[in-house]
Amino acid sequence: MRLKQLEMALQRLDGFTHPRPSLEQYQTQAPLAARLLYHAFMKRDIEGKTVCDLGCGTGVLAIGASLLGAASVTGIDIDRLAADVAERNTALLGACVEYIVADVRDITLPDRISTFDTVIMNPPFGAQKAHADRPFIDCALRTAPVTYGIFNAGSVQFIEAYTKGRAEISEKIGGALPIKRTFSFHTQDVREIEVEILRLTRKQ
Ligand code: SAH
Repeated sequence: MRLKQLEMALQRLDGFTHPRPSLEQYQTQAPLAARLLYHAFMKRDIEGKTVCDLGCGTGVLAIGASLLGAASVTGIDIDRLAADVAERNTALLGACVEYIVADVRDITLPDRISTFDTVIMNPPFGAQKAHADRPFIDCALRTAPVTYGIFNAGSVQFIEAYTKGRAEISEKIGGALPIKRTFSFHTQDVREIEVEILRLTRKQ
């Protein structure tokens, strides 16, 4: 599947029915999701691999990984309602993803799920709850040797310091995340947030 085809397929997916600000529920728009996925695919981190999407929401990254030929995909989210939408989205595109409703802050989670080849994630940036992204990074590093995550632009220094001794940033790709007016505190119809896709490689 080509990048454009993937983007067009992901464009068809439904977003959150009742987005919750406290969980920073913003669906990754198809162009950015396709970019992360295709990049990971070209790095041979998707096809034939076991993939886990942490904070999968309505499933855009998980479903895209399945469409790109992942051996298996597991999506994890704390929100049952989001997982329900993700299930429907998965069926719509004929993808294959197993969804688990769980909290990534639960430190027993990595031991309860199997390990994976690759984690993909667009975690909360910590705009509503400070440091909301940290448990995602911790869980990812315990779960897979390679992680692709979407972070606020300018996060590199923080991520480097936070993962020191545990992982290194092996790649950085720029991008933009258009946030549509979703919550009452939003003042613009669409706001573009500069983001970066980081590939983290776990240290042995
Ligand atoms: N990955 C999806 C959703 C991004 S929004 C996409 O790219 O479109 C962030 C997601 O993280 C939301 O679905 C939210 O429900 C989930 N989330 C927030 N805190 C969580 C936690 N502690 N454990 C698991 N999921 C969580």
